[in-house]
Amino acid sequence: MTASLPRKDLFDLPEGMIYLDGNSLGPLPVAVKDHLASVVAEQWGQHLIKGWNLDDWMEQPVRVGTRVGRLIGAPAGSVVMGDTLSLKVYQALSAALEMRPERKVVLSDSGNFPSDLYMAEGLIRHLGKGHELRVVAPEEVEAAITDEVAAVMITQVDYRTGRMHDMAAITRKAHVEGAVMIWDLAHSAGAVPVDLAASNCEFAVGCTYKYLNGGPGAPAFIYVRPDLVDTIQPALSGWLGHDAPFAFEQSYRPAKDIERMRVGTPPVLQMSALEVALDAWEGVDMADLRAASVRLCDLFIAEVEAKCPELQLVSPRDASVRGSQVSFAFEHGYAAMQALIARDVIGDFRAPDVMRFGFTPLYIDEGDVIRAVEILAEVIDQRLWDNPAYRRTGRVT
Ligand SMILES: *Cc1c(COP(=O)(O)O)cnc(C)c1O
Repeated sequence: MTASLPRKDLFDLPEGMIYLDGNSLGPLPVAVKDHLASVVAEQWGQHLIKGWNLDDWMEQPVRVGTRVGRLIGAPAGSVVMGDTLSLKVYQALSAALEMRPERKVVLSDSGNFPSDLYMAEGLIRHLGKGHELRVVAPEEVEAAITDEVAAVMITQVDYRTGRMHDMAAITRKAHVEGAVMIWDLAHSAGAVPVDLAASNCEFAVGCTYKYLNGGPGAPAFIYVRPDLVDTIQPALSGWLGHDAPFAFEQSYRPAKDIERMRVGTPPVLQMSALEVALDAWEGVDMADLRAASVRLCDLFIAEVEAKCPELQLVSPRDASVRGSQVSFAFEHGYAAMQALIARDVIGDFRAPDVMRFGFTPLYIDEGDVIRAVEILAEVIDQRLWDNPAYRRTGRVT
């Protein structure tokens, strides 16, 4: 059966808040509260070390990975959870570079999230083999894929603008030129339909605290194409990626399947929160979710352009090349976002002047969009942002 959207009753959203930041940190699913309390009290509290077997903690990273895989078109057993996205980027890229030892270029784009680029810089420096990180404009990615490129490492949906790459076309070009394709799905998983198997890419990575509502610090995921996984040499060769961790052998031997991308002890409490958070996706058809997301984003754009002409759309107008977020530039964007947040409409800000709003059809509807823009229009029309309290910046924007 297909579930109808939204499913607000599944989330514990504060009364009166319009939460348009699920692209950054998803809200608390109601079921997570009780489940986490019982995992703490019973599994950790009563079972203690026995929990690894009794409560199947050891299988959890693959079990949860398979559930995330269903949302991104990955077959069972091809995704494993663990660590943070930055580390998963490092794992995927290091494996990709070992697959193309004769090539020295890592291709990415200027719309990528900085951490992915920073991890690539660190890896390249550490390898010391003369690799080059080549960063081009998003529109130039396809043309920049040449036979010099070892790995194309791209985030599908741009965190600032929401611009979305054509996964099939870029992967095809990478393969024509003999490059390895790595997709970062941080702003795709749970936001847009993804078909990893059809794309034929070698690697994909992503996080679960954004659209998948796994909570702050929820584990990341990594996908390796099943026909390749046995040939991957993990750079982060921790004991839980070993073929027989409890044999305590002196040397590393990678596990025979996706478990070789595990590193160390998994975060059981976070993974348990995520496992139950994923229940919110049961019965949700990703095509319905996408249709609802496009409706919400289009409505938001139309309303803001009608009511706040000072704001400039920086996201694509064409929904087919836009993810599930909409951004507007405004000279006083930071202060305006603070004024908006003070009025319980939660979005966020990305330097230099981008006001960013995420649309998550699991718990946002048209009424929320219209109300949010009414409040935004008050902030702009009445210059409510022009208040010193709204110019102070916190560590996190
Ligand atoms: C959110 C995000 C990250 C964050 O990485 P963490 O290691 O989870 O902090 C990395 N890359 C992209 C593309 C992101 O959107």
